[in-house]
Amino acid sequence: MNLNKQSYTLFAQAQQYFPGGVNSPVRSFSQVDSQPIFIKAAQGAYLIDEDDNNYIDYVGSWGPMIVGHAHPQVLQAINAAAMQGTSFGAASALEIDLATMICQLMPNINMLRFVNSGTEAAMSAIRLARGYTKRNKIIKFAGCYHGHSDSLLVAAGSGGLTLSIPNSAGVLADLAQHTLVAVYNRIDSVKQLFSTYGNDIAAIIVEPVAGNMNCVLPQDGFLQQLKELCLQHGSLLILDEVMTGFRVGLGGAQEYYQVQPDLTILGKIIGGGLPVGAFGGKAEIMRLLAPIGPVYQAGTLSGNPLAMAAGLATLKLLSTANFYYNLTSKCLYLADNLTILAKKHHIPLQIVTSGAMFGIHFNHLSVIATEDDVKQGNLSQFKTFFQGMLQEGIYLAPSYFECGFISSAHEQQDLDQTLAAAAKVFAKL
Ligand code: PLP
Repeated sequence: MNLNKQSYTLFAQAQQYFPGGVNSPVRSFSQVDSQPIFIKAAQGAYLIDEDDNNYIDYVGSWGPMIVGHAHPQVLQAINAAAMQGTSFGAASALEIDLATMICQLMPNINMLRFVNSGTEAAMSAIRLARGYTKRNKIIKFAGCYHGHSDSLLVAAGSGGLTLSIPNSAGVLADLAQHTLVAVYNRIDSVKQLFSTYGNDIAAIIVEPVAGNMNCVLPQDGFLQQLKELCLQHGSLLILDEVMTGFRVGLGGAQEYYQVQPDLTILGKIIGGGLPVGAFGGKAEIMRLLAPIGPVYQAGTLSGNPLAMAAGLATLKLLSTANFYYNLTSKCLYLADNLTILAKKHHIPLQIVTSGAMFGIHFNHLSVIATEDDVKQGNLSQFKTFFQGMLQEGIYLAPSYFECGFISSAHEQQDLDQTLAAAAKVFAKL
């Protein structure tokens, strides 16, 4: 492994231009008490940094690169689209092609709208839910992330169930008071909110598999119970599948867990590595959007042809036979063997997987169901593990609270190399 000389020089320069030297906080490596490496290229399952180090990549641009980096069919689609012009700011057929595919694969989506990020999609879905129900409040879960719009940058943490504390400066307390925070996997916490605010709750928004507090699975019946509560109280259920969509399986978490949301939020994979988000659902609700309805929403680059082409090429690759079977098998192979290795070294480790996403918990608890459970993890052990793995050429998410992602480009030898690296690092923990 070469020294990260070039990366450190670039980081010093970047700090002059970008707060913290980055354009998105978690990239700064501050959560692992370190400095970021700068990537100059990515191919298949690998990243190459500015010092010419190669890494096996388990971040995959935080999820979108499910067929690996620079997949030839995706590049070809982007190139072909680019040759026709890079943005029209007008309607185009490619938007219909991608929408058709999404609606076929996710039958709970009858109509949708493309935007440019998951944040935008979640923000717009919340506005639509409020417009449709004519209610003010939403319920989100502590530890779930839905992008950085004001209504959604609220988490109670240990602050208590109904305390709506913004977790960013600049978010108005007046707005935050309309975001109620419940405990993931604790249906009683949701019932309590409904019993207090039921007729003013527009929607529940939830990550069907939580992927922003490490990885936490929904317990049996949790998502169905949310749906029932929404039906009882005339509220909408919004599944945020920005991360889980086309990652947990071809039909997303809603297919896997058999839950029917009123609205679905998508991002990441549907853009094939280009900036895309979408929100969609029942036509009756979607028809409230401008220009045919009173809920305003718009975007200069929405439905961008390059992004549509990349998303379409990616979804076509995902639809091939055995794609998810193979992907999930790789994820399980890695998880099972990491668990065995950790046990050998007496390290309390639990790997949670869902389809092709995984979370590494350095946690002695046998069941990890809530954000508080996750927080009992040994963060300092993770930091040492992260640094050790990076030194061995394995690029994991630089935060205890993020997930890992497998792509179809990861080969058996990559997985085995990762396990060999982990064996070395565990021995030193
Ligand atoms: N929703 C979920 C579940 C996410 O994981 C993310 C980002 O990681 C977002 C929304 C926000 O998406 P974006 O970063 O594209 O704005």
